[in-house]
Amino acid sequence: MGGTFDPIHHGHLVAASEVQAWFDLDEVVFVPTGEPWQKSSRKVSPAEDRYLMTVIATAANPRFSVSRIDIERGGPTYTIDTLRDLEAEYGDAELYFITGADALAAIVTWREPGELFEFAHFVGCTRPGHQIDESTLQGLPTDRVTIVEIPALAISSTDCRARVERDEPVWYLVPDGVVQYIGKYRLYRPAPTSADQES
Ligand code: ATP
Ligand code: MG
Repeated sequence: MGGTFDPIHHGHLVAASEVQAWFDLDEVVFVPTGEPWQKSSRKVSPAEDRYLMTVIATAANPRFSVSRIDIERGGPTYTIDTLRDLEAEYGDAELYFITGADALAAIVTWREPGELFEFAHFVGCTRPGHQIDESTLQGLPTDRVTIVEIPALAISSTDCRARVERDEPVWYLVPDGVVQYIGKYRLYRPAPTSADQES
């Protein structure tokens, strides 16, 4: 499962858990992006913070792991490179790439979209606010894409960041350890103003 995970939240974890059970997957590998090229218009937290939050959030599940491949590769992250590297690392494992409905709809805009499906079966999870209809699937090879309906969690990283910035709680939207990590390293807080420093 690829993602920016800025921060990882329970929507990601439920999607991963549901797809693991649905396909009886041996392992779900969370792959935090290096530089997410489609998000270059906003500031993304350092990769190490996103990586560590993902490790904290997934630590208790023996079937969950976190890979640094997209971070180590450097430069913008393209899913085609992620899949090539995973294939090289996992040999003849059958790969499934887990996405939400919004990301699935965007696949056609990714680099080398045709080739993606040679490397993995794509799983599109339902997500509140993002319809999956015929137009979503248009142009995608139907034998290589499965839609999985998961319990709806209207949680997004964007909303979590905005909440922290406004000093509102993110308890129960993200795992407890992630709430604590965000607090400890003051992620998503507005930059201190000179007035704050004086007081
Ligand atoms: P942002 O708001 O910063 O884009 P996000 O919540 O969409 O963050 P990403 O890291 O962009 O999180 O998402 C990684 C993957 O998880 C994507 O495929 C996305 O569609 C999926 N996903 C994220 N949140 C949910 C959710 N609540 N339900 C289902 N899928 C989700
Ligand atoms: Mg997103």
